[in-house]
Amino acid sequence: SLTAGVVAVQGDVEEHADAIERAARARGAEVTVHEIRESGVVPDCDLLAMPGGESTTISRLVHSEGIAPEIREHVAAGKPLLATCAGLIVASSEPNDERVDELGLLDVAVERNAFGRQKDSFEAPLSVDGLADDDPYPAVFIRAPAIDDVGGDADVLASWDDRPVAVREGPVVGTAFHPELTPDSRIHGLAFFENAAADVPALEVEKAR
Ligand code: GLN
Repeated sequence: SLTAGVVAVQGDVEEHADAIERAARARGAEVTVHEIRESGVVPDCDLLAMPGGESTTISRLVHSEGIAPEIREHVAAGKPLLATCAGLIVASSEPNDERVDELGLLDVAVERNAFGRQKDSFEAPLSVDGLADDDPYPAVFIRAPAIDDVGGDADVLASWDDRPVAVREGPVVGTAFHPELTPDSRIHGLAFFENAAADVPALEVEKAR
């Protein structure tokens, strides 16, 4: 059975835990989800999610609690990480905000709150590379960042308004939107179970069938 972690220093944690459970269950996998508020838990996790919330707060707490180096080691070991919205900003290599101490796990620059005040929050049907089927993904954006520069090692999986909003680099998938806020768990499935990046070992899924 799998062990999952959701970085739980701040942000929409329970929704990610639910989405991980749904994605795992759909594949006949057992999963135990831990909420990560301190160091020492990440090393036990097969997969990790870093949620949306407020990126300066999440960044400050993952460093002060000693979780940041463990997340880096998790990714260096080729284990999957899904970083959403504020989590994407923290995982990026250039948050363009000196209050965010970035982890540098995704070779992208981001612009916080890029989609404008009048569109603080919106839903968009996205075409996302690598999903299990071709149906548009109902992406919820809430004061979302945009992705400005995508380095050579990262691939754009989806764009909106001509700006990248989902990227993958090895075992890391980052989204500007909130895949945990819809019943559609295909992004969690992509990040954790069907990441096609060559250097990501498949998770052992014990099929119940
Ligand atoms: N605007 C937030 C930030 O920049 C991110 C918003 C979110 O995670 N929903 O930190």
